[in-house]
Amino acid sequence: MKCKRCGERAEIQLRSHNAAFCRSCFVLYFQRQVERAIHKQRMFTPQDRVLVAVSGGKDSLALWDVLLTLGYQTEGVYLALGIGDYSDQSRHKAEAFARQRGASLRVVELSEDAVAVPVAAQFTNRVPCAACGMMKRHFFDRAALEGGFSVLATGHNLDDEAARLLGNVLHWQTDYLARQTPVLEPSHPKFVRKVRPLYRLGELESAAYAFFRGIDYVIDECPNSVGATQLHYKDTLNRLEATMPGTKLNFVQEFLRSAQPAFAAANDSPPQTCTECGMPSFTPVCAFCRLLQEVKRKQQRSAA
Ligand SMILES: [Zn+2]
Ligand SMILES: [Zn+2]
Repeated sequence: MKCKRCGERAEIQLRSHNAAFCRSCFVLYFQRQVERAIHKQRMFTPQDRVLVAVSGGKDSLALWDVLLTLGYQTEGVYLALGIGDYSDQSRHKAEAFARQRGASLRVVELSEDAVAVPVAAQFTNRVPCAACGMMKRHFFDRAALEGGFSVLATGHNLDDEAARLLGNVLHWQTDYLARQTPVLEPSHPKFVRKVRPLYRLGELESAAYAFFRGIDYVIDECPNSVGATQLHYKDTLNRLEATMPGTKLNFVQEFLRSAQPAFAAANDSPPQTCTECGMPSFTPVCAFCRLLQEVKRKQQRSAA
């Protein structure tokens, strides 16, 4: 197999694109895909200060690496979620990457300011991922606002986008479908623009990029995500992809082109402000603060 670009021996085959690349051409291909997404979707410009949500995994570190290479103004933010060894390891990788690249990383200690994810899940009978996802959103929004950033970038890849889309479609979550875009404009003055520059690049592609670039990342999935619904969706999509390469990309791309605008048009209710924390919210008290209240109530009850 030969590299599509230079004719040297290929090291990676992309069946969905019917192409193969050598190591250095793949790195270039990956960076160009990201750059094209940023331009085409008008995500940000070199004038913007971009906050990159970093988990220590391949996707967010690959994204940060590309943005640094392309010369964008970035800072990373890491949330110490308090999920035992997994959190310690992922924090270590995120910090090591920032040090090597001379980039600045903000660390938000979640357990100090709120409750650790396992505690929240235990006291509310919620799936840890649900509590975790909601807390992450809250803290990322707050970090972006407090740091004066104009954009928040996350490492969600094509597999994430396709799985989320499948879940939203299976349950016809029309309000979620309205907001499922690679660029989410702020719906409130306290929000910043949220972007997903890897939305057209698959999990295997970001793993290969991280490997070829010598990025040391946490390989383990979050221990809480084992058995999560999202993984079933990914599994199903992978099986479709194996027999019909390009299914995921087509699913997401065609949704964005032909269906998403219809959902977006029907959803324009601006959020209000949470009476507890002051962050934007769809209800008087935001989902994050309601979770905290619930945890505190149950902690008190079990202590009594
Ligand atoms: Zn090549
Ligand atoms: Zn709140």
